[in-house]
Formats: sequence, structure tokens, C-alpha cells
Amino acid sequence: MSDYEELIKKGEKFHGHICVGIVIGTRMTMIGMRELGMNPMVPNNNLRVYTEIDRCYTDAMQAITGCSLGHRNLKYMEYGKTAATFMDTKTEKAVRVSIKKPFIVDHSKMKELNEFYSQAPEEEILRIENVSINVIRDDGRQTSNSLEICSICSEGVRDNHHTIVDGKVMCKNCAYGSYYTVLGG
Ligand SMILES: [Zn+2]
Ligand SMILES: [Zn+2]
Repeated sequence: MSDYEELIKKGEKFHGHICVGIVIGTRMTMIGMRELGMNPMVPNNNLRVYTEIDRCYTDAMQAITGCSLGHRNLKYMEYGKTAATFMDTKTEKAVRVSIKKPFIVDHSKMKELNEFYSQAPEEEILRIENVSINVIRDDGRQTSNSLEICSICSEGVRDNHHTIVDGKVMCKNCAYGSYYTVLGG
């Protein structure tokens, strides 16, 4: 079995099926790790993955790399793009792998899509860019286990995710507006 076939199987086990997202996510991860000089067959503690999509692709990335939200080495960037950046925390080298031609999955054409995306030459379907990471690395190395208490709602904010407004510590909900509204009686 080729490395690709073995990794696809990991994705299938984790995700529940093989779909074009697993196919592309597997290829993205193999390319990202290769460009960092890492072996995709072996999870690497120095790897960080910044995924810009929360669809099937990301399950392949998780299954192969072992990176997860819980381990804090998978970061979800809510951009809705079929793209991810793979970074080596040791060398700070980072590569972003993104799809060249975005598409919406037509489930009636899954077999053809799987075949095309598993066989197409990578330069035809995926773009590779060398990048540097701009956001704070909140993976416990650059930020030491911090806990700040919001001056407005008194909730605790971990790992430097707080913000300062007019000199006061605030959570992002209080500072910028929240994704939820508390329904009160
Ligand atoms: Zn899927
Ligand atoms: Zn708050």
C-alpha cells in the first residue's frame, strides 16, 4: 500500500467515509508536511496546523497529523477557504496549501471527483506558499498558561485570548460583541 493509500484509510476511519474532502485534505497534509521536511506517516510534535475550513478536509488533517483542538496544535481560522497552513514550531517555517479552483461538492459526482483529485498532479490542483504566522502562538510556548478575568462579565479568559480596552481587561465577547445573546427572564 502506498503512503497515500495508508493515509486515506486513516482519514476514512476518523471521518466515517472517503469523500473528495478527505482526498484533498490528505493531499494537502502530505504536501504541507513534506515541505516542512516531516514524514506524514509519523505524527510530529513540532507541527501546528491552521485550517481555514471546517469541512471534511480538516478531518483528514486531524487523522493524519494527530493535531486537534484539544492538543492546541490545530487552530481553526474561520475563513471558509479550502486552505491550511502547516508550521514547524522548531524552525518557524510555515507553508500554506490552498486549492487552485474552488468548487462546491456535487454529491452525485463523488466517484469522479475522488478519482480526479486523487490522481491530478498537485501543481494542477493545489498552490503552495511560504508564509509567516502573524497571530500569537497560543500553544503554550509563547504564552504561559495565562488566565485573565474580564472586567465586565467576570468570566475567565485563558491563554492570552483577552483584549485590553481603555486599559481594562476584557473578554472578546464584551469588547467586540458576541456570537450569542443571553436570553433573560
Ligand atoms: Zn466527508
Ligand atoms: Zn466579558
